[in-house]
Amino acid sequence: MRYISTRGQSAPRDFGGVLLAGLAEDGGLFMPESWPVRSAAEWRALRDLPYADLAATVIHPFVGDTLSLETLRNLCARAYQGFDHPARVPLTQLDHGLWVQELFHGPTLAFKDLALQLLGHLFEHVLTERDETVTIVGATSGDTGSAAIEACRDRARIKIAILHPEGRTSEVQRRQMTTIPAANVFNIAIDGTFDDCQDMVKGLFADVSFRKDTQLTAVNSINWARIAAQIPYYVAAALALGAPDREVAFAVPTGNFGNVLAAWAARRMGLPISRLVIGSNRNDILTRFLAANDMTARGVEPSLSPSMDIQVSSNFERLLFELLGRDAGATAGLMQEFRRTGHMPVPDAAWASATALFQGFALDDAGTAAAIRRIHDTTGYLADPHTAIGIAAAEVARLPRAAPIVAMATAHPAKFPDAVEKATGIRPSLPPRLAHLMTAPERFTRAPNDLAAVETLIRAFVKRNDAQSNNPWGTAA
Ligand SMILES: *Cc1c(COP(=O)(O)O)cnc(C)c1O
Repeated sequence: MRYISTRGQSAPRDFGGVLLAGLAEDGGLFMPESWPVRSAAEWRALRDLPYADLAATVIHPFVGDTLSLETLRNLCARAYQGFDHPARVPLTQLDHGLWVQELFHGPTLAFKDLALQLLGHLFEHVLTERDETVTIVGATSGDTGSAAIEACRDRARIKIAILHPEGRTSEVQRRQMTTIPAANVFNIAIDGTFDDCQDMVKGLFADVSFRKDTQLTAVNSINWARIAAQIPYYVAAALALGAPDREVAFAVPTGNFGNVLAAWAARRMGLPISRLVIGSNRNDILTRFLAANDMTARGVEPSLSPSMDIQVSSNFERLLFELLGRDAGATAGLMQEFRRTGHMPVPDAAWASATALFQGFALDDAGTAAAIRRIHDTTGYLADPHTAIGIAAAEVARLPRAAPIVAMATAHPAKFPDAVEKATGIRPSLPPRLAHLMTAPERFTRAPNDLAAVETLIRAFVKRNDAQSNNPWGTAA
């Protein structure tokens, strides 16, 4: 399988190249050159596979020659063995025709573990084959940082530095990053906002000598490997509910559009998905787009569902590319116009084909709290704020006698205990395996909101010999 850029100006790459590069050189996102479509009989044949085998089988066509199916199966087995539910991504029925799929049984209690746990293994494998090392740098407002750290900890060929805005993540989120006792993990608490952290990461990537000296890379959600790793749970849910012999719909609490894009990809691969409902908080640009073709960015407002506090959903570019019939020039033009003016004039035909499948739904904080309470009162299910928006979106879209709809539960309620307690009076507790979290010692370094200072810190971290007897870092150590 080869990958092309949505902006058409980068040379095609294979899966390994896309994994390590993340973003294409022309600023676009990588997309598979073609979609591996399965017949109904081929889908049916996957029905009885345990999750890790299903994941390997579904992902393998995207990986092509980079890994054998056998190797990928091994990596998937290892990636998902630490999940605390035997089904890995269990389905729970809430009502007639309404289900939730819990994607939070991984080490950091959010759906990002499903992609990042596998990515950690994929990185290690590809780096070992190429005899290379990388430094991963990222900014986080909470969930991504901890999931990336968990996935990369103690890996000999990876060093990972995560910037978080000091005092602006939840305590659980911070502790999930700062209590990891691994020499290849570096937490930096920035005296600034999440946007400052993100700008700083962009600054680090823009510095060519820094990028080269540290073999800098990213694991943010524009990495195609993350999208590929999110397709299998849609397949698992659809097969369990009767696909390919019955249509299924999904409702997805959405921020960067990565999770719902994976559902779209599953449909592109031939799974009968009838509807995709996008849940948003007050940062509702996607809902406005779908309702009235109004793709206009406003300032980001904080909400009870911080992982969806996003105005510009980076993965939307991938859908746009497809809606425009894979016209890379038109995609690049619209993205540039959006960046310049904050408004994207999507052609009516492309908008109409988006609305044939997608539907938007937004809830403000009061609506989110009310949804958490109502869902708990009527079904007994305790949902985190992101999940509650997904369930509410599914309820709105559910039609009598239509396809069953599955709402994606993207975080464990104990990750957002204050919001859940305020809405229901119940304080969700952390799973026992995380009980140590609130007392374990924390390790992080404070830094001013200053690019040069952070660069110096990360350079020193990368040079530090982590006492691996078999150190692949060569002269850098
Ligand atoms: C990241 C995240 C989301 C948003 O997912 P996208 O792929 O960015 O759309 C939703 N809920 C939770 C809990 C998250 O961590």
